[in-house]
Amino acid sequence: MTRRHAVALIPGDGIGPEVIDASLEVLEKAASLHGFALDMTRFDWSCDRYLATGRMMPEDGIDQLRPHAAILLGAVGWPARVPDSVSLHGLLLPIRKSFDQFANMRPHRLLPGATGPLKSEAFDILCIRENTEGEYSGAGGRIHVGTPAEVAVETSIFTRRGVERILRFGFEQARRRSGRLASVTKSNAQKYSMVFWDEVTEEVAADYPDVTVSRYHIDAIAARMVMAPETLDVVVASNLFGDILTDLGAAIQGGLGFAPSANINPDRSQPSMFEPVHGSAPDIAGRGIANPVATLWSAALMLDHLGEEAAGRSLLAALSAVTAEGRLRTPDQGGQSRTTDVARAVADRLS
Ligand code: ATP
Ligand code: MG
Repeated sequence: MTRRHAVALIPGDGIGPEVIDASLEVLEKAASLHGFALDMTRFDWSCDRYLATGRMMPEDGIDQLRPHAAILLGAVGWPARVPDSVSLHGLLLPIRKSFDQFANMRPHRLLPGATGPLKSEAFDILCIRENTEGEYSGAGGRIHVGTPAEVAVETSIFTRRGVERILRFGFEQARRRSGRLASVTKSNAQKYSMVFWDEVTEEVAADYPDVTVSRYHIDAIAARMVMAPETLDVVVASNLFGDILTDLGAAIQGGLGFAPSANINPDRSQPSMFEPVHGSAPDIAGRGIANPVATLWSAALMLDHLGEEAAGRSLLAALSAVTAEGRLRTPDQGGQSRTTDVARAVADRLS
């Protein structure tokens, strides 16, 4: 009996549909080579849909997604036509929240042939960012607004459940990689939340004696990512610190065209979501020149999550072979190739 996985496709806006469409051929081929089937359902939820119907997705959108094992998303948003607050709050955030996708996972690796700003080519880090609480909890307020006495307060919220589960997820990932984990805080300056984070790190670490733990302050690890990235493997950070480190990581790995991401809930009864880090790139949309590498890599993460590790590895290997060869490059990488040329070359290299 063939293994089957239900995948929801949300191509979204701008270059989103271009990079998703280009990925389909690659995914289909990977599935047939590795003996499984992807049952893909396409949802046209986007800013276009919002302008036509007043909603980014239907009222029962979340229920429609629920039966899927994974969601593959292109990009959502078109700031010139729909405010980001609408597109974000009408689609992306409800999905992340409803399915409790608390771990934002971003592999930062310099693919062969990719050029980043660092001299060293040894760059292979997995950043795991807490995605539901912390500094972005939205708790706070302002008083005496507009007066010289004005005060603004923004409260970070760290719960034992939230901190423990992101660290546990990080330790599991470290086990799958080199067995090294870096925990990021600023516990010398933030004496409640970050000291708490350190304590929970120590507690969870007791369950993973095979994983080596290092603790870094955010400022020190940011410098380390640039100066000595080979000393890092899995990096676990809070919402704000992870946000900063993953932008740094994306820059080092050659920019947005090369940056994949996953929003994971390890509880498989809820779909996790896979998407390139980049947005809808309205400036190049509709021209067929978007770089599909970030989306293809996100698709590889999805295959891995679906339990199709061999297919995921093979997709990443095919992707690396194409970037290493360097013959097919989209304009953002200094080439003249089209989105579909790159994707087809990756499909051809699959084994
Ligand atoms: P968002 O608001 O969704 O976070 P953004 O406005 O920060 O997104 P993008 O829409 O990702 O940014 O675009 C930023 C720049 O990077 C644009 O000039 C865009 O053309 C370029 N870019 C982004 N993704 C790609 C890609 N896949 N291929 C080529 N260029 C890209
Ligand atoms: Mg934008």
